[in-house]
Amino acid sequence: MRKKFLVGLILGLVLVAWSFSQTKSKDPAVIEVKPAKLTPLKKEALTWLEGHFSELAELNRKIWEFAEIAMEEYKSSALLADYLEKNGFLVQRGVAGMPTAFVAVYGTGKPVIGILAEYDALPGLSQDTVPYKKPLVKGQPGHGCGHNIFGVASTAAAVALKEVMAKNNLAGTIKLFGCPAEETLVGKVFMAREGLFNDLDACIQWHPSSRNGVSLGSSNALNQFEVEFFGKTAHAAGDPWHGRSALDAIELTNVGLNYLREHLKPTARLHYVITDGGLAPNVVPDYARAWYYVRDADRESVEEDYRRVLDIIEGAAKMTGTTYKVHFISGVYNLLPNQAGCEVVYSNLLLVGPPSFDEKEEEFAREIQKNLGLEPKGLDRKIQPLRKPGRSWGGGSTDVADVSWITPTTTLGIACKPLGTPGHHWSTVACGGMSIGHKAMLTAGKVMALTGLDFLTKPEILKKMRAEWLEKTKGKPYRSPLPPDLKPPVKPKPVEK
Ligand SMILES: [Zn+2]
Repeated sequence: MRKKFLVGLILGLVLVAWSFSQTKSKDPAVIEVKPAKLTPLKKEALTWLEGHFSELAELNRKIWEFAEIAMEEYKSSALLADYLEKNGFLVQRGVAGMPTAFVAVYGTGKPVIGILAEYDALPGLSQDTVPYKKPLVKGQPGHGCGHNIFGVASTAAAVALKEVMAKNNLAGTIKLFGCPAEETLVGKVFMAREGLFNDLDACIQWHPSSRNGVSLGSSNALNQFEVEFFGKTAHAAGDPWHGRSALDAIELTNVGLNYLREHLKPTARLHYVITDGGLAPNVVPDYARAWYYVRDADRESVEEDYRRVLDIIEGAAKMTGTTYKVHFISGVYNLLPNQAGCEVVYSNLLLVGPPSFDEKEEEFAREIQKNLGLEPKGLDRKIQPLRKPGRSWGGGSTDVADVSWITPTTTLGIACKPLGTPGHHWSTVACGGMSIGHKAMLTAGKVMALTGLDFLTKPEILKKMRAEWLEKTKGKPYRSPLPPDLKPPVKPKPVEK
């Protein structure tokens, strides 16, 4: 009897524990997705990527070393374009009026699958591959957003796809877009205005992250511009009544903007820097310049906020007796996530698994965390659950968003920096140029190549993605945020020293 009672008790406890674990994992925000199946075609893509790992890691290291900032990515874009050409892609360089933008094409006919590659660095973030802050060359750029890994992983995925397509006579077209100047939110917007993404059935892209996962979140739409004020100089003490201060105009603009905040939606974000505010306090500045960002949850809101900002600028000019010129730099949309496509990416991430970081790499990551006063949790070795999008509040902007309003676009994040470390930071540069970055690149390349194969071979997926995209865009055609006559801010090729 006693034995029976004990067995019953244990069974009961197990049942309670099981049901508890069941209720715990049933987070209503989590979307359940099964891992994708490893098909012979997918196996071929993975084998190609693994077999070319050292060659791809070398490309990653080279772009990391080039560390070229927005619109100066001459060597980085040429390296990727040459690699794609060598691997059977037809490359068109200098597209959309930007010498460092290119499109590499393989195959013919439908479906047309796009893959985005970025490769611009950030100013002032030069850093060695050590777990403490140590610039390679002080004040020089570094890959603080991991775009070296971004560019190479996307290129790797494109070439792996091409290999499988060629061997198996798969129909369709792969287009790898070499997109410059993401950090200044320029490249893809000008490429979009040119119509380069118009024939895509879907677009695949990713971003280096501290976590492995797929996000259904959005990003902020944005307008950025500079304003110049022109006044009249005078002795600031002798005869200031003859002067008209351009700096006053900027200060009054900013006062106006800071009052405006109260009457914008809570989703709006305004920020500015004064890039030229005069030269000496005893001279009334006849020239001043400032740079502004206006962000909000969607394009319409940004346009409305922007109109009000322009009114304030005009008011400031009237108050100060100055004149002004607004120079529009660029504008982007908010990112439109595509759940149907993202679920396919996620299923392939589950199949591929997170990057296989070893103890040495974990130690490197923990060392960085300790040096930053963070909990030494190391790197993300799990896959984060796929969550339904929450309420979007604040956040950055990306020009990937413009592509997402032209064609269904997927997302992916792969860990290539320690958990909890900030973005646009030396720690990303440190990890991106060594094995942590190389391994993240391989994982991202694999997930995107497998997703590409699903898109090429399963038309029902593309159909579902398109239907969702049509519902979200309500069939509205993409309208470029750029004025039609605005030229891309091209920088000349630097002279080799
Ligand atoms: Zn980035």
